[in-house]
Amino acid sequence: MPALKGKRNPLAQIVWREILSPFLSLYSTRICPLCHREHQLGLLCLSCLRRLRSFRLRLPIEPEALKPPSPVTSSWACLRYEGPVRELVLGYKFHRRYPLLRLLSWIFNQKLRELLPKLRIGLLVPISTPALRRLLRTTDMPSDLARHASRSLKIPFQACLSRPLLPPRQLGKPRKERLALGKEAFRLRTPPKSPRLLLIDDVLTTGATVKAAAEVLRQAGAKEIHVLTLAYADPATSP
Ligand SMILES: [Zn+2]
Repeated sequence: MPALKGKRNPLAQIVWREILSPFLSLYSTRICPLCHREHQLGLLCLSCLRRLRSFRLRLPIEPEALKPPSPVTSSWACLRYEGPVRELVLGYKFHRRYPLLRLLSWIFNQKLRELLPKLRIGLLVPISTPALRRLLRTTDMPSDLARHASRSLKIPFQACLSRPLLPPRQLGKPRKERLALGKEAFRLRTPPKSPRLLLIDDVLTTGATVKAAAEVLRQAGAKEIHVLTLAYADPATSP
């Protein structure tokens, strides 16, 4: 068939683009997990790395629920929760692309290393995923990030908080409702071993969940609570 000469089979192209290449990208350091093209770097191809850099956040963030007076001393985020950042976070969180943790931890640890001289942090505390959701997703991103950071930066890690089996869902709820939620979402499991904490979350939106966690930790003796989240979804700019 002369019309097809020089063209690849469209079905084969779809299978490559949608199934084989994303699958290979999980287990090969030569295939970029974002664009699925071959590359020579370790974690991402150069153009995706550059693209990701444009989503970096340098200044502290000011989520609505954490405006003063707040139990949180300062809040920081690595990246804006948009485009490729969203894709990477959702890939790990919901689609079991486990090897992405290496890349996400690398981004997170870089930011934490940058903040350490500014903030005096004695302990890493994750905002862990509620048990039932953890079971369904099979990942607990805040705890995974905290554990990796603890190992690579030699800062102690402590899961101080516990959460009910299934707290109310925040996604898709109006902002006012999201701000009111989260009050009873945390219980103290063990008191923090240091008064200077870094609370770790994966994606932060209004900050209501972090605020509820920080209030519990304050009551348990924490004097300074900083927050670092991998991504920040600013409700003013995101739907
Ligand atoms: Zn790429």
